[in-house]
Amino acid sequence: MAKIYRGTKGNLQFLAQRLRAGELVAVPSETVYGLAADALSASACRKIFRAKGRPPSDPLIVHVGSVGQAGSVAELSDAARQLMRKFWPGPLTMVLPKKPAVPEVVTSGQPSVAIRMPAHPLFLKLLAETGTPLAAPSANPFGYVSPTTAQHVQDGLGKRIKYILEGGASEVGVESTIVDLRDPRRPRLLRPGKITKADLERVLGVKVELVPTPDSTAAMLAPGMMLRHYSPHTPVIAHRKLSLKRALSGDAREAWVFLTRPAAAKAAKNIFGWAETSSSRQVAHNLFALLRKLDGQSWKNIHVEYAQRGGLGDAINDRLTRAAAKTGTRAPHKGRGKGLSI
Ligand code: AMP
Ligand code: MG
Repeated sequence: MAKIYRGTKGNLQFLAQRLRAGELVAVPSETVYGLAADALSASACRKIFRAKGRPPSDPLIVHVGSVGQAGSVAELSDAARQLMRKFWPGPLTMVLPKKPAVPEVVTSGQPSVAIRMPAHPLFLKLLAETGTPLAAPSANPFGYVSPTTAQHVQDGLGKRIKYILEGGASEVGVESTIVDLRDPRRPRLLRPGKITKADLERVLGVKVELVPTPDSTAAMLAPGMMLRHYSPHTPVIAHRKLSLKRALSGDAREAWVFLTRPAAAKAAKNIFGWAETSSSRQVAHNLFALLRKLDGQSWKNIHVEYAQRGGLGDAINDRLTRAAAKTGTRAPHKGRGKGLSI
């Protein structure tokens, strides 16, 4: 099993030294926990792919501790600098032309690199202590639900890694927004997150193109954008709106996750709520922890209710659509299928 370290000065110095020596350390961030390695070392980054079982075609996000460090790994356009000023440190990843210092394994051979400055204070301290940018995808076996606590990392990767930094439950709870800024005049939203398309448009002063969820598992609009992802082992069925009547009268071995748990569900053991209120902030914060918990409880199916549309709700619904996607099937589309479109 991996050892879980509290964020003391001595522990941070030790973990930074392990990172500089080319080892992997799982780190807390405000989005989800990441599995970090020295981003400038190809051999260290290869270990990330091995530990996660991640295909080499899925590039890694490089985390930086300063704008100066960002400039050492990517070409920074004015648009990129504007977004950094407004949203960093924070859950916004930018895809930019890469600098030669970044090994090919990090970017899956592409001339672009994805970069972000995380907001979690311990991650920032570790970056400062290590002195090198850190490549870090989510710290989970590839394709499974992302981890939002140190224990989640232990559960999924504890046998494959040695070091986990404890930083509490991830505040946001879903992965960063990814914006493609390779052409700063034509920004594209590759992955929805807490920073919304409207937030980006307000700062950039141009329209941001929405890259839709791909409509088959094979389709990949950008590297790593597989349809089925973030998926529990138990089948997930996503609904625009859940019916309490149907949940109460159905098979007791099916779980139902409402936006908030209906009071009329009384003591029914198979009825849950994402959060105390229907606020997307709360739903996102609890999303992956509840999916993981239910996945450990041998339900036949997990029925889930989509979040309210817009803002962070769109990011939640993107993850739920992917969690519910079956390998080799088509994704739900607006106006097609029953209750599944978002
Ligand atoms: P994560 O699993 O949260 O680390 O997400 C990493 C994701 O960032 C990948 O799956 C890609 O969708 C995206 N990404 C990383 N690097 C690039 C890149 N150079 N170009 C386009 N997308 C990228
Ligand atoms: Mg991931």
